[in-house]
Formats: sequence, C-alpha cells, structure tokens
Amino acid sequence: MVGAKKQIVILGGGFAGIYTARTLERMLRPEEADICLVNRENYWVYQPMLPEVISGSIALMNVVCPIRRLCPRTNLVMREVEDIDLTNRIVTVSPGFRPRAKKIPYDYLVIALGEVTNYYGMPGMLENAMPFRTLADAITIRNHVIHVLEEADCEDDPDLRRKLLTIVVGGGGFSGVEVVAELNNFIHEVKKNYRRLREEKVRCVLVHSRGRILPEMAEPLALFAQKILKKRGVEIILNDRLVAATSEKAILKSGLEVPCKTIISTVPSANPPVLQKLDCAKDKGSLLVTTALELVGHEGSIWALGDCVSLKTVSGKVVPPTAQHATREATTCAANISAAIRGGKPAQFTFEGLGTLGSLGHGSAVAQILGVKISGWLAWMLWRNLYLFKLPGLKSKVRIGIDWFMHLLFPADLAQMRLEHESGIKNQHFEPGDIVFHEGDLGDSVYVIEKGECDVIKEEEAGPKLVATLQAGNYFGEMALLSDVTRNATVRASTALDVLLIPKGDFNRLRQSVPAFGEVFSELARKRTGRDN
Ligand SMILES: Cc1cc2nc3c(=O)[nH]c(=O)nc-3n(C[C@H](O)[C@H](O)[C@H](O)COP(=O)(O)OP(=O)(O)OC[C@H]3O[C@@H](n4cnc5c(N)ncnc54)[C@H](O)[C@@H]3O)c2cc1C
Repeated sequence: MVGAKKQIVILGGGFAGIYTARTLERMLRPEEADICLVNRENYWVYQPMLPEVISGSIALMNVVCPIRRLCPRTNLVMREVEDIDLTNRIVTVSPGFRPRAKKIPYDYLVIALGEVTNYYGMPGMLENAMPFRTLADAITIRNHVIHVLEEADCEDDPDLRRKLLTIVVGGGGFSGVEVVAELNNFIHEVKKNYRRLREEKVRCVLVHSRGRILPEMAEPLALFAQKILKKRGVEIILNDRLVAATSEKAILKSGLEVPCKTIISTVPSANPPVLQKLDCAKDKGSLLVTTALELVGHEGSIWALGDCVSLKTVSGKVVPPTAQHATREATTCAANISAAIRGGKPAQFTFEGLGTLGSLGHGSAVAQILGVKISGWLAWMLWRNLYLFKLPGLKSKVRIGIDWFMHLLFPADLAQMRLEHESGIKNQHFEPGDIVFHEGDLGDSVYVIEKGECDVIKEEEAGPKLVATLQAGNYFGEMALLSDVTRNATVRASTALDVLLIPKGDFNRLRQSVPAFGEVFSELARKRTGRDN
C-alpha cells in the first residue's frame, strides 16, 4: 500500500550496500521508510587501498569508515546474515551476546553481500592458503609475512629458510597483482633490517591461469605491468593455476610444486554460503537480476547488486564486479526503491565503466581511462588522486594523505601485531545466580565444569523444576550441539562456577579428529535423553 511507512532492509555493508543506504537517506523522507543495514562489521572497507595495509604504507584503521557515521539515518545491525526467507519476507541474523537468533522483517530487500574466496575442490587450500578481501585478511597476511621473515632470520636449516622466503600469490587480476607488487616492495624494503637475510633471495611468485595478467586491461598495459613486476624480481607463472596446497608447498595444475610457507589466493570467487542456499534465479551461482537490478522472480520487492549478481546493462554488456560499477548500481537501486514506494517507473542500469586502474606500487601504475592508456608514474599519480578523491569523508582523505607522505619520509613499519587466538576455547567464570544459558537459546558451545556447581532447570507449567545439579568434571550443553536444536533447559550457577567453554566449531573439529572425544558427549546425551523421557 503506497503511503504506509516501509521497512527497507539492506544486506551487506560494502560499496553496493553503503552507497544504496546513503542514496536512500537522501531520496526518502524519514516518514516514508525505515532503513536497516545488516553487516558483519560495523565499518566499511575501502578495498582498493587494502594492499597498502599489508605493506604498512596506510595505517590499518585508515582504510575503514564507521558505517554509523557514513549512514547516520540507517539502523545498523552488526550481525551475520544466516537465512533469507523470501516467502515470509524475513531475514534471520546470527545471535549476539545472547545466543538467540534475531528475525528482521522487510517490505523491500536489497541483497549486496559481495563474494567470498571459495577453495571448494582444492585440497589443503582452506587450511594453508590465505584469502585477500577483507581488512582481517590484510592484517593476517601482514602478520604472517613478518612472522616468516622473523623465522627465516633465526632459522639454520637452508631448505626451511628458502621455504620461509617464498611467497606464492594465486590470481593475476587486480587484487592479485596489487598484493604481489606491495608484498615484493615491502619485503625488499625491510630486508635490510634482518641481519641474516640481507643477502638472501626472496621469491615472490604470481600464478595466473591465462596467457597474461590483468585480463581486465588492454594488452599493452598488462604487458607493461608484467615487465615492471619482473624487473622488480617477481616471478610470473602464466597458463597455470593453484589446485592444492600443503603446509610445505603450493601445487599447480601443471604438476609444478613450489616449496613455500606462504600462499595467498585471490581466486576463485563464489557467492557467500547464505546466497548459495537461496532458492532463486541464478546464473553460474550469481543472483540473476534484471536491468533494473530486481531479483528475477521478485520484481518490485527485492533488488540485488554488486559482486554477488549477474547483471547486464541495457545494451547487453556484462557488468564486471568492480567498485565503480557497484556504486552506480547503488544509485539505480535506490532510485527504483524510491519509485516502488512513491509509485514511479523503474530506472534501467546503463553505466558501462569509465576505465580501469591498477597500482604496482613504488611510483608505478597502469590506467585505461575513457580509452586512453597511461602507465608509469603519471598513472600512479592518477591512481592515488582518483582513489583519494573517491574516499568519502575529509578525515579519511587527510589521514591517508598523511600516511602516504610519512611513507615517503620514513621506512615501512615492521611491527607484528599478535592478535590471533589459536582457537575459541576459553575459560569463563560465573558468580552464583548467573545464568550460563536460557532454555530456548541456540546451542553454540559445550561447557566443562572445572570448579563449582550449577543447576539445570526446566520450565514446566507448574513453574521451574530443578532437573540436576552438576559439579566439577561434569559436562553440559552437548545436546543442543549434537542434535542442532535449541537448549532444552536453563543452566544457572549455584556457586562460583569456572567452566571451560568449547565453541561449536572447535567442538565439531575435535569430534571429527578424536572420535572417542565425540563418543563421550554422544553417550552423555543418550543417557540424558533417556532420563528426560
Ligand atoms: C583487494 C581488492 C582490491 C580491489 N581494487 C579495486 C579497484 O581498484 N577498483 C575497483 O573498481 N574495484 C576494486 N575491487 C573490487 C571491489 O572492491 C568490489 O567490486 C566491491 O567491493 C564490490 O562491492 P560489494 O558491495 O558488492 O561487495 P563487498 O564490498 O565485498 O561487500 C560485501 C559486504 O557484505 C558483508 N557480508 C557478506 N556476507 C555477509 C553475511 N552473511 N552477513 C553479514 N555481512 C556479510 C561483507 O562483510 C561486506 O561488508 C577490489 C577488490 C579487492 C578485494
């Protein structure tokens, strides 16, 4: 019904989602619609500058902007999208501190969840290769590379040293080329700080499946980029691809094996799992949309855009997955939602790109703008100015400008940030009366009591009923995990309680690797189910 306040839900806070929200905030009056955006982070990442985070030429917090500041009229839900119910128009997002799923109803839905790197069918890649898309990926890669340099510096075994000093990057598109260029520059810059590595050879290897890198660019520019990278010592392997990995080597389709301790892979891409299971029109796994960005079969209520869609312009050209297209798609999408609310005619997507730019670092880049091909320093200046100009907000522009200036004056930073936890297994303490979990909560962890006691309470018609009291050495919480159901009782600390918390992911990993471990919990669940009956 035209006139009633609408609920617009946007899934994804990347280029596509953020620009849609910002445009809708400008186009619609607050009384016309509420805008809600779901994203797993509370910040938006400026991906084209991510490679420079690895080398430290841009400080890591300077490539992100808080979504709440970018979209002040939008309600941000910082959660994981777990399910999209197209029939009942409800989005389910992951639990937060309280382990209970949240349901968000919508009148109009925008799907802009981007893509993920997918190692399906590539043995060992998941465990041994690092993807490169997010800020967390950039930090992980930076930390890992500094770690291997530190190890190589104190390692005496020459074979291991060689492996530690070899980096393999899969995918010769923009992100692969930019990451290998930045890493190669970074390592050569900081090598002098490692006394035993000064004379050592560092191998940066780029593997690409086609006959030349940068397939998005004209051949002369791609060849220029290849020449620059080779001059700087990057090895380029063409017409081959990464197919598997172990902790000791990268394995290519041709059978070639590269002994190494660092593999970064920017390919292949696929839609996020929540979209893979979505029952709707698709083209090779990507969501199929009309030229008005409406999800085929759901015209007028669901729009999809950005990297997760298969889209053609009005003239039939395939739209590539780039930020410049995602931002233009966002404008069309917002205009069409506004038209749906106010009763207008949908706009069609016609933008066919202004050009492409790729940085090679150290004052060199390749650019193809409105048919004009530029390479070298001029292209690099163009790249920096254009991306700085496109960055929203004066604060971010100033910060990045200062970072670049500082990098001209001072050497790259070498400090490693040790953030990562080996697993999510942790100790937790509860005071008497604290609730560990409620009946009806999602089962997200198993608990082992180390010290103290707790009560297991079931809600019955007559009131709460004490089912059991558990003590040190007892386990609980396994039933909801083993049978994927919600908690069937509330657990409350009756004394000061210390538990070991094993999150679902770790619990399942342990069960798979140590069947006896899983059997203990399965047996316990069987006994407890019997007692319940
Ligand atoms: C390293 C790198 C360099 C690039 N350089 C350029 C460049 O120079 N020029 C250019 O035009 N393009 C570039 N691109 C491509 C460009 O960044 C993408 O095309 C663009 O980001 C696509 O926008 P999007 O909104 O569709 O997806 P994304 O920007 O990937 O955003 C998707 C968002 O959805 C969130 N999300 C995903 N799944 C879930 C879930 N289940 N629950 C909650 N949130 C979820 C993600 O956290 C993310 O915030 C680059 C990409 C990379 C990785």
